[in-house]
Amino acid sequence: MSVLASRARALIDPDALRGNLGALAARSGTPLILPVKANAYGHGLNLIVSLAAAHPDVWGFAVATPREAQAAAALNTGRPVLLLTPPTPAEVPVLADLGVRLPVASLAEAAALPAHARAHLKVDTGMNRLGARPEEAVAVGLELARRGLLEGAYTHFASADEPDLGFAHEQLRRFRAVLDALPPTPQPLLAHAANGGAVLSLGRLPGMALARPGLAAYGFAPPHLRAHAPLTPVMTVQASVTHLHTVPAGETVSYGGLWRAPRDTPVATVGIGYADGYPRGATGRAEVIVAGQRRPVLGRICMDQLMIDVTGLTVQPGDPVTLWTQRELTVTDVAAWGGTVEYEVLTGVGERVERQVGETS
Ligand SMILES: *Cc1c(COP(=O)(O)O)cnc(C)c1O
Repeated sequence: MSVLASRARALIDPDALRGNLGALAARSGTPLILPVKANAYGHGLNLIVSLAAAHPDVWGFAVATPREAQAAAALNTGRPVLLLTPPTPAEVPVLADLGVRLPVASLAEAAALPAHARAHLKVDTGMNRLGARPEEAVAVGLELARRGLLEGAYTHFASADEPDLGFAHEQLRRFRAVLDALPPTPQPLLAHAANGGAVLSLGRLPGMALARPGLAAYGFAPPHLRAHAPLTPVMTVQASVTHLHTVPAGETVSYGGLWRAPRDTPVATVGIGYADGYPRGATGRAEVIVAGQRRPVLGRICMDQLMIDVTGLTVQPGDPVTLWTQRELTVTDVAAWGGTVEYEVLTGVGERVERQVGETS
């Protein structure tokens, strides 16, 4: 390891990931396509793909962009990689050569596939983001099947993580109608619909061969769904104390002078900021854990640094400060302080934050 250490680290707990994958596969009754888009929800694509490829419940991986598909395929895990957004015509043969499973939503896209491509028919059942409408999807599926390219078919729920599941059931009904109209394929068709919200809320979905839980696999679910599977957050983030000083009574800390010291206050400066993904919007609310104690962040969160109150604590430069843990003070808290959601906090974890295998709580 270099002498020049990173100031912030994301510790990835393999046991938590394995436990979540097993629990979600048990709940859905199917193997999983693990979404590893956006650097595996910020956890590190290479690390997560390497860890999850050894898991018996993981069929393969899903990514959002051709570059991500290339990166995942390059790890040669032997597990399929599914691209979830349309490639350009020029990208199709390159991705097909890499073995990447391609989403197909039109006859033109089907016609552009080389003979060794493997396609997943994308059906838009109401998300209105990508895919063929049900009335067009059947013809696309028939053409893919005729050419022997149809491996799977899928759709995506718009609100399966919300308490009202009415629209999720309607989407499922529309998807099943398409599946029922498709011809038999040499290998059983791999139908998949459920994201994490649907795996937790709907459980087993007859006719579905796979499920695609993302955020849940990384340990998070909305409160009303948490009882359906034991999930543990996978990532802990720590950063190092870089400087210690005493702020005299009456002086302020950080940009804009938002926090004023009521008395002489021992302050530690910590090497993480909003450029590393710690939300600037959490200013005025955020807390961290230092020397086993919860302490407030003082004043505005900066690009590369933040300051904390270390009154009464023995802290040295280089000591770890924990920004979020797997159990108390989680990403859920940080997201709430920042006025955002776990997805955005996790995917925002920056490049300077070194991903390492390890667990702390
Ligand atoms: C991101 C994504 C998922 C995973 O969603 P979660 O809410 O994280 O479970 C599944 N399917 C598609 C098509 C996606 O884009």
